[in-house]
Amino acid sequence: SLFPSPVTNRLIRFHFRLRTMASVASHIVGYPRMGPKRELKFSLESFWDGKSSAEELHKVAADLRSSIWKQMADAGIKYIPSNTFSYYDQVLDTTAMVGAVPPRYGWNGGEIGFDVYFSMARGNASVPAMEMTKWFDTNYHYIVPELGPDVKFSYASHKAVNEFKEAKAVSMPDLLIFLIIFWFGLVWFEGYTLKITMGGYVLKLNHFSLSPSLKGVVTWTLTVRMWNRVQAVDLAEPKYLSIRILVQKWGMLGIESIPVLVGPVSYLLLSKPAKGIEKSFSLLSLVENILPVYKEVVAELKSAGASWIQFDEPTLVMDLESHKLQAFTHAYSELESSLSGLNVVIETYFADVPVEAYKTLIALKGVTGFGFDLVRGTRTLDLIKSGFPSGKHLFAGVVDGRNIWANDLAASLNTLQALEGIVGKEKIVVSTSCSLLHTAVDLVYETKLDKEIKSWLAFAAQKVDEVNALANALSGQKDEAFFSANAAAHASRKSSPRVTNEAVQKAATALKGSDHRRATNVSARLDAQRKKLNLPILPTTTLGSFPQTIELRKVRREYKARKISEDEYVKAIEEEINKVVKLQEELDIDVLVHGEPERNDMVEYFGEQLSGFAFTINGWVQSYGSRCVKPPIIYGDVSRPEAMTVFWSSMAQSMTCRPMKGMLTGPVTILNWSFVRNDQPRFETCYQIALAIKNEVEDLEKAGISVIQIDEAALREGLPLRKSEQALYLDWAVHSFRITNCGVKDTSQIHTHMCYSNFNDIIHSIIDMDADVISIENSRSDEKLLSVFREGVKYGAGIGPGVYDIHSPRIPSMEEIADRVKKMLAVLESNILWVNPDCGLKTRKYGEVKPALSNMVAAAKLLRTQL
Ligand code: GLN
Ligand code: ZN
Repeated sequence: SLFPSPVTNRLIRFHFRLRTMASVASHIVGYPRMGPKRELKFSLESFWDGKSSAEELHKVAADLRSSIWKQMADAGIKYIPSNTFSYYDQVLDTTAMVGAVPPRYGWNGGEIGFDVYFSMARGNASVPAMEMTKWFDTNYHYIVPELGPDVKFSYASHKAVNEFKEAKAVSMPDLLIFLIIFWFGLVWFEGYTLKITMGGYVLKLNHFSLSPSLKGVVTWTLTVRMWNRVQAVDLAEPKYLSIRILVQKWGMLGIESIPVLVGPVSYLLLSKPAKGIEKSFSLLSLVENILPVYKEVVAELKSAGASWIQFDEPTLVMDLESHKLQAFTHAYSELESSLSGLNVVIETYFADVPVEAYKTLIALKGVTGFGFDLVRGTRTLDLIKSGFPSGKHLFAGVVDGRNIWANDLAASLNTLQALEGIVGKEKIVVSTSCSLLHTAVDLVYETKLDKEIKSWLAFAAQKVDEVNALANALSGQKDEAFFSANAAAHASRKSSPRVTNEAVQKAATALKGSDHRRATNVSARLDAQRKKLNLPILPTTTLGSFPQTIELRKVRREYKARKISEDEYVKAIEEEINKVVKLQEELDIDVLVHGEPERNDMVEYFGEQLSGFAFTINGWVQSYGSRCVKPPIIYGDVSRPEAMTVFWSSMAQSMTCRPMKGMLTGPVTILNWSFVRNDQPRFETCYQIALAIKNEVEDLEKAGISVIQIDEAALREGLPLRKSEQALYLDWAVHSFRITNCGVKDTSQIHTHMCYSNFNDIIHSIIDMDADVISIENSRSDEKLLSVFREGVKYGAGIGPGVYDIHSPRIPSMEEIADRVKKMLAVLESNILWVNPDCGLKTRKYGEVKPALSNMVAAAKLLRTQL
């Protein structure tokens, strides 16, 4: 016999039975693109630098996509998304899809390739990039589409269809290898009862045996039938799922994914009127023009074999006026006939859907499912209870895509069971709260993280397993081991002494009732400070960091790796500070900084010295394009074991007679740029950080530092999406800032710095921070800031609108700066105006910084003589 079979002459009993499939489906809204080790980042950057080819970039991207799809399939996820990969940004992908390329990029039709695509994203030698802005309240940034009445939409990028096909493809050689292995596997196990468990499904073969005479036939039948199945059937169908799973196990894809598109209405609402088009232009008036392209895409996806499509319409969670809601109704009834024969899910995320929007949403034509963020959507449950259309699917986003904490599986299961009671087992789909794009990629690579803390976490890869485990549990196939490990981790997190610090808890709770303001008003304080500091009118300063040279980074790295001693390190940093101080004296700057040479990052530096923080090695999250950030994890009560900056600041002060600014990061910014614990309200964590920073401020004051800058670069970033929640946030955020410095003397001058431009709507909160001097990024948005200045005049605090843009290598001339300052003087009184660049200088080179600052000081001096 050809096969090593010990069993002959027996009745063929070949039971091939599949235990009932997990009847509750699972779904992932979207997945990080960067790769577990930022593979895409490095590949993109090497391509941009001309060091590698487009083919190489395509290959890295395809490998990332297939490994993500396989991973989800292995985990047992039913609805696996495609087209959530992007070379830069999914909104830009949509701009390419609909061919809305601004004319300045010289696109002449045809399929949009890397050239045009990356020019829009990053600019090219002759044209700057398109504008980028924050994606809702995340730290992800998208490329803002520029539209006008004349835009000609056309189907110009087939990426969505291509990715769908890519996921679906099964290669012939792969399949043959699989069948041979499968056959040998069958023979090997003759006589046993087999139970093969994969991704939560069980394949059972009872008293498995084969007769040699029939082996050939069986092989033949299996081969033909399986090939047919793989070719012709819907692999997402339960009875073929076993085959699908086995096929995937052997490295083939064969996945029928859900293609994800940014929905047409959200796309328009996230756009802006192109240059030269009136601001009042109605972007929604373009809906008629854009829908034909969506129809083409849908038709193509349908013929490629898609049975589901996901439209992301996250703008539905915003406060939308009724005409905007009507646009949804209109757009989806227009699409209805194209969508027939397809299942369509509309995904919403980042908050609950307001009542009116909910009504609009669930009444949309042509739609079969609705996705909700059940983590941030605090009222969604009530909405669903109040009415959910029968026969429609509910995609229940219970696994948090915005954070890194392990899901509370028991609690989620409760929620899901409640929902199941409303919509039925067949219609509930377990999902993530939003795309996993906003969390870290894979915990497996965190080899340095403390074991206990690690057990509390789940990154994207682990969240996929959580979603699947919940779907199985809801189907009555609870993985007890998985659930009890999860419960144990939660119990350990609750009771761990490293989480709770009672003294800190008490101190933070005690803060809530009172106001924490400095005793005197700002004008009185500024008088006292003027006498003490003796500064000229239009004082000059910089905002903290000086250029971070390669040598400097090397010194820090070597010290961290213990390759150089502490003494050597301190000496190297001291030399650097000395250099920066001498330079500022030569430039004749009035209020100096030490240059922050000891800091790699303005949050990490403090997090590393505070207790309650943990750091990852690969916990990167995409910020924009190839840029990623690695937020610290705040897991416990925050306290400051010892002073963090006093050593360096007093060393720097000892090198000069001029005032040396102490330099701190504020509590709100530390909070907003971290992964924050979810076991207490955010404001409580913020108050704890505020207390730690307060200790630092007071120690700096004691050490003789009389000007202290507390950066709140990210204050506005934390602003909730919904207006109804903004006042509360601003209240505790501003309060937290005041806590840090309410106890200092009148003669101590508190500065703050913010580097965003859109604060017209929060100006009163900024004033309420009660800082003595506010410096703001300004060089790109003069008019907008005018109102801020006016308010400032009333308020009386010092104001330092940036006088030149540090984000560009261009060196501004003295005349240009003087001109700018003059314009500011037309609005502001001279006795409150400061002269400074618009942000820290760490990304610039000394060759740019020296002449730029020298021109800035010269401009200030010139204007002083003219006042
Ligand atoms: N003090 C910080 C620096 O100069 C401020 C940076 C920022 O606001 N982003 O680097
Ligand atoms: Zn800044």
